[in-house]
Formats: sequence, structure tokens, C-alpha cells
Amino acid sequence: MPTYPPSSSYIAGELGVGGGSELPVVDPSTGAVIWTYRADGSASVAAAIEAAADAYPDWSATTPAERSKALQTLETELEWIAEELAQTETAQTGKPIRLSREFDVPGSIDNVAFFAGAARHLEGKASGEYSADHTSTIRRESLGVIGSIAPWNYPLQMAVWKVLPAIAAGNTIVLKPAENTPLTTLMFAEACERAGIPAGVVNIVNGPGPETGQALISSPRIAMTSFTGSTAVGRQIASVAAGNGTRLHLELGGKAPFVVFDDADLDAAVRGAVAASLINTGQDCTAATRAYVHHSRFDEFVAGVAELMKKVRLGAPTDPETDQGPLVSFKQRDRVAAMVDRAIRDGATAVTGGRAPEGELAAGAYYEPTLLVGADQRSEIVQDETFGPVLVALPFDSDDEAIRLANDVPFGLAASAWTRDVFRAQTAARSLAAGTVWINDHIPIISEMPHGGMKSSGYGKDMSTYSFEEYTQVKHVMSDITAVAAKPWHQTIFANA
Ligand code: NAP
Ligand code: MG
Repeated sequence: MPTYPPSSSYIAGELGVGGGSELPVVDPSTGAVIWTYRADGSASVAAAIEAAADAYPDWSATTPAERSKALQTLETELEWIAEELAQTETAQTGKPIRLSREFDVPGSIDNVAFFAGAARHLEGKASGEYSADHTSTIRRESLGVIGSIAPWNYPLQMAVWKVLPAIAAGNTIVLKPAENTPLTTLMFAEACERAGIPAGVVNIVNGPGPETGQALISSPRIAMTSFTGSTAVGRQIASVAAGNGTRLHLELGGKAPFVVFDDADLDAAVRGAVAASLINTGQDCTAATRAYVHHSRFDEFVAGVAELMKKVRLGAPTDPETDQGPLVSFKQRDRVAAMVDRAIRDGATAVTGGRAPEGELAAGAYYEPTLLVGADQRSEIVQDETFGPVLVALPFDSDDEAIRLANDVPFGLAASAWTRDVFRAQTAARSLAAGTVWINDHIPIISEMPHGGMKSSGYGKDMSTYSFEEYTQVKHVMSDITAVAAKPWHQTIFANA
């Protein structure tokens, strides 16, 4: 059993306790309260912003090598507590321990390792004489204090995706995790302290979005707001940022299509669809949610997916044999269940699933892996984010129709195409409107490559050196090299002087 942090905030290098209302952290597999904390109100948030602003001049003046060294030490500190992080992530989210151990925690640590290296590779255009009379130099500078808000689906990973590019580039940060999943982010902050990252560089505040989150992002002292979460909240946050003129980075919802052409390896597509729709109990912004399958392979695909979904073992998240845990909360489970019920009422059929399990698992926020057919392209279950273990399969007749249907939602975060034809694959890669397109796979991510959306899925990139575009600003320094007072271009202003 991991030891949970003794406090709920980390401000100026001190663990602290917020003065607001008391909030529970619930294990969704049982409904048991595993931790309680007091929310950070506007005074704590102001103190955190102050601490980040105080730490900024010194941290931004460190060399890339110094920042890199600090992040390498952080990587080691996180390796030490990897198992504790995995157990805590599982306890607060209900995700299966195998996923925490093999995906969330090592993925987060690899991201830290990546940014330890990337801190030394900030890029710009070559300095030189683009005008014969001047030398141009590019400076890539940090922004200041970053205000960040993260969601509950991958709490540690989302914290790392926000904090690492920000501090690697020389910024300081105040991060608010999701209200129901604060624990691993606090453990991460404690690791930052042990790694010797100076007080105030990383600050964590906890509490409800509309209070703690709003206090953070409304502050005019924030140089940039970086948000990962739903499209609706993202838009509300964008309106606050617009009011203050704050720079913005939004990673929002998704509704990824999974396109199976008639020449696809069907076994690979079936396995891929089940894994990609059920990962993290479907609470993944890039999860496969809409399978468009050529009509000649549709029945075979549906039968294969249903059969494999039935083999997925629901159970206690702590049991290494468990494939799928509960959803993150009873509220989220009920939301998903209501959406599936409405789809069925409107004409869809559940080939498998479509309900919460009975028996022992009824005490937790479980929902069966669900495959729906017969839904209308315009219906809610096809158009809106479900964020649960639900895949909708729809047939198509032509390649053009498949791409059109795949793009026919407001979101554009991720997509995949399944084919053995290299020309089809290239056409799909070009035509699918999504920030990530997989060919013959769906879900893998890698620290070196960017993650981010198009359309209503937001803008800006997480991970990879592309994220430095978000967390830095480019300055052009143009120096005269002629030492001549009367410059040729002056004559356009005063020709006779
Ligand atoms: P959410 O409701 O939008 O919440 C996200 C974060 O925003 C939470 O910390 C939340 O605090 C906070 N928040 C809520 N209302 C706020 C407000 N009025 N002002 C300021 N902050 C506010 O999303 P969620 O339900 O936690 O997470 C699921 C969503 O995240 C899905 O839509 C998913 O697609 C998206 N997501 C996107 C990506 C990506 O990279 N594009 C990655 C992961 C998740 P509370 O905890 O108090 O609600
Ligand atoms: Mg929420």
C-alpha cells in the first residue's frame, strides 16, 4: 500500500493544505474514500503564482545543461517510486494495475527522460546576413509563469506532459490536476523537490475546476494557459484567456475513427479495434470510437470484435489478471450508460455489452465492453465524445465515403486506417483530419513525436520538440553591421537629408 502525500498542495517548495471545502478521492472499483483533502482557494492559488513568478528569473537563467541535469535526476527519483506511483494511479482512477505499470508510469518517466535531452535542443533559424547590412539572430525565450489544468484519465502522464516542456524551456508552472485524481501529481511534485528542482519552479494546487482552476487561469500574471480536458471547458477557458490576452494551448476531446478497408488484415483490425476502444476503459481522448468497415468485411469484423470483447476480464484493478477496471467515477459510468441507452432507444443495437455488470462488480463503477451497430451517422453516439468502453461499427461502400464519414464529426484528434495498399494508406494519411493518423495500428504514442488536435480537438502540441513551440517565444535580434549613420533605406523617409 503506497503512502499518500500528507498534504494537498505544493507551493514554493512546501507541502501545504488548502483552506477550502473538504473533497474525497474515491476508489471507483469499490466506492471507498481513500483520501480526503481541502481544496485550494484563491489565496493559495495566488501564493502559488507568486512563488512561480519569484522562481522564474533564476530558473530561466539556468543553462540548458543545468536544466537537463535536474530533469535527469527527476527521472531517477521517479524510477525509485515507479511501483508506488502505479499503485496510487490505479487506486485513484480504477485503471488496471497492468496499464499503470506498463503504460502510464513508464510512459511518464520516458517523457521526463526525453525532455532532459530535449532541453538542450531548442532550435531556430541559422544566424546570418539575410540583409547585407545586418546580422540576424534568433533567440528562443521562455514565457514566464505557465498556468496548467489537467484531466483525470491519465493523471500522472497529463501532469508530465504539461510540466516537462514548460520547465525544460525555462518557464515555471502552477498546475491544477483534476479534482478526483490529485495524488500522483503530488507525488510527482515531491519527486521534483527530491531531485533538487528549485522551490517555486513546479507548484501544484488542488480543487474544483470552476473555483481553483478559474482562479489560476484568470490571473493576469499567467503568461500562458495550458489546458487538457473537454472541449466545452476548453472553450470557456479560451474566453477567459481572450479577455486577458493570455497565450493558450488547448488539448481537447476526441472521437477517433478507425477505418477498415476491404483489403485489411481483418485479424489485426479486430484485435486493434478491441484494444484501442477499451484502453483505459475507453477513457482515452484518442480511443477508437467509430469503426467504419467496408460492407464486404462488416459482418466478419463485428463478429470478431464481439467475440474478443467478451473475453475481456473485468475485475479488481489491483489484480494483474484484470483487463478492464471500472470507469473513473460513478458519474462517468452513469454518463456512458445513459448515452448508450439513448443510442439503443434511437435504433442502435448492442451486439455485446450495453450494460453494467451484476454481482460483485456492481459495487464499482463498471461497464461492460460494448459494441454497437445500427447507429445513425448524425446520432449522439457517433458525433459526441462517449469516454467509455464503447465502440460503434458502421459500414461503408467506397473509400471516399469512408473518409467523408470519418471526418464528419467536430473533433480531429486521432484516426487510423487499416489496409495493405500503400496508396490507400497514403491517401488516408493525407485526408483524415486528425493530429495523429495511424496506419495499421491505433493508440501507440512516443515521446519524440507530437500529440495534439485539429478542429474542435484544440491546437498546440504536447510531447516532442514541437511542444517547445508552445512554451517558448521567438525573438529576432537584428544588428547593423555597417556602422554607417546614413543608411540607404532612410531615403524613403527623408530623401534630401
Ligand atoms: P473536464 O471536465 O474538461 O476537466 C478537465 C480539467 O478542467 C479538470 O481539472 C477540471 O477540474 C477542470 N475544469 C472543469 N471546469 C473548469 C472551469 N470552469 N474552469 C477551469 N477549470 C475547469 O475534462 P475531464 O472530464 O476531466 O477529462 C476528460 C476530457 O479530457 C475528455 O474530453 C478528453 O477527451 C479530454 N482529454 C484530452 C486529451 C488531449 O490530449 N486532447 C487528453 C486527455 C483528456 P475538475 O476536476 O474539478 O472538474
Ligand atoms: Mg470534470
